[in-house]
Amino acid sequence: MTVRFGGLAALSMVNFEVKRDEVCAIIGPNGAGKSTFFNCLTGVLKPTSGRILFNGEDITALPSNAISRKGIARSYQITNVMPNATALENVRIAAQSRRHGWNMISHHSAFPDINEKAEAALQLVGLLEKADQLAANLSHGEQRNLEIGIALATEPTLLCLDEPTAGMSAAETHDTVQLIRRIANNLTILIVEHDMQVVMELCHRITVLHYGEILADGTPEEIRRNPKVQEVYLKT
Ligand code: ADP
Ligand code: MG
Repeated sequence: MTVRFGGLAALSMVNFEVKRDEVCAIIGPNGAGKSTFFNCLTGVLKPTSGRILFNGEDITALPSNAISRKGIARSYQITNVMPNATALENVRIAAQSRRHGWNMISHHSAFPDINEKAEAALQLVGLLEKADQLAANLSHGEQRNLEIGIALATEPTLLCLDEPTAGMSAAETHDTVQLIRRIANNLTILIVEHDMQVVMELCHRITVLHYGEILADGTPEEIRRNPKVQEVYLKT
């Protein structure tokens, strides 16, 4: 696909494929087009040209809620977290949006399966013990993991994570890498990252974007050895 903003091509003829159950990363310096790529994948933005196929189905023109129901979820930075709701309420609303549609009137206890799903999602991201705490009172790292829990609660088959460890301490980053490993069973994961270290240990395959074009694509080892990649990363 190609995405233009006026005269700027944020993505130029980017051809990318992810296979079921793979963990793949798109890395690249700031402004490379990584978030634009995710915005297209999740229906936030429409590509200027090109197509997006999911399980063989053309989803290019679908709005983001329809794409979510197809099984593609995305974690934003922390913009999806409702600070004045508890951790459990945050994931429960996401679980509900997928299964029953948004229903403000029904009391949550009417949907025991929704509560179970929400608790399972919290457990996966290590926040079950903090279920009743307000999201605002969680640490930055916990809020980022709650974001992943919210995405998981929609029961995706493809999970898109935009810089999941941004702003985290080294210890939090380590925990989140473990978390992503844990949830990678039965789930296709696409990670957009600035930090090459994080994806090196997590991913089967890495694609390097640079000024909206694919600079390199390969295994972590191939990417590590690639002179073009080394040059781009040394420069920035
Ligand atoms: P990354 O996530 O890799 O840092 P982005 O996808 O956010 O990069 O941005 C790629 C390029 O597109 C940048 O030059 C950015 O300024 C530009 N861009 C992104 N979104 C918009 C927009 N909505 N309008 C105009 N330019 C944009
Ligand atoms: Mg970005």
